[in-house]
Amino acid sequence: MTRRKYVVGNWKMNGLKSALGEARSIFAAADAHPGVDVALCPPFTLIGAMAATAPGKAVGGQDCHSAASGAFTGSVAAPMLADAGASLVIVGHSERREGFGERDADIRAKAQAALAAGLSVILCVGEPQGVRESGGAIAYVLAQVEGSVPDSFDPQRFAIAYEPIWAIGTGLVPTVADVAAMHGAIRGALRERFGDAAESIRILYGGSVNGDNAAELLGAGDVDGALVGGASLTAAKFVPIIAAAAGL
Ligand code: PEP
Repeated sequence: MTRRKYVVGNWKMNGLKSALGEARSIFAAADAHPGVDVALCPPFTLIGAMAATAPGKAVGGQDCHSAASGAFTGSVAAPMLADAGASLVIVGHSERREGFGERDADIRAKAQAALAAGLSVILCVGEPQGVRESGGAIAYVLAQVEGSVPDSFDPQRFAIAYEPIWAIGTGLVPTVADVAAMHGAIRGALRERFGDAAESIRILYGGSVNGDNAAELLGAGDVDGALVGGASLTAAKFVPIIAAAAGL
């Protein structure tokens, strides 16, 4: 089964309208690599403008509420993301799990809401440093997969991002062998639950990916792409990651 490489930028709480030119440069450069799917997830405030300035490109949200509408001050619903021009959304990022108390059941509900709104989903999992050091990383992450991945979805519209928390924004990365072992374990769990459909689900790696380490990390077994934070903010840093994915 061949899965297309998928490289996704998570701008987190960064980006004003003045950053739209950077997004245009990224998408224009990505056109030179038609074998790689590229998406950018800016803050909510930029989704509409980014989708308008880059027609046909994949623009996404970084979170959504599990309800379609209602009295949830400050929240944004999945149908609103779609209405603004988004085609995907990240759910369960560790900064949401840790900073906003999101649990697996919440993330599962958000993923279901996003799928129902016609969005593609990138669902994040990943262990804290202490769990990695104690040797429990695979069991921890598989429990997150079990608890947060919905029971039914179109596998073409669903990806998992394995992001060890200690590797996010730190410059630390796991060994390629550890990444391959984790991705293989996730694939195995998906196979047990979803059978052959599991082969179509892309599993991305995230955590301090840059132009220098991308080829090695993305070349590891069962790694289908990257979720990139800091290095996705500029074309100068993000395009080499896309190019590395294209070269695999
Ligand atoms: C992320 O937060 O999804 C991420 C991977 O960040 P960074 O690339 O900056 O480590």
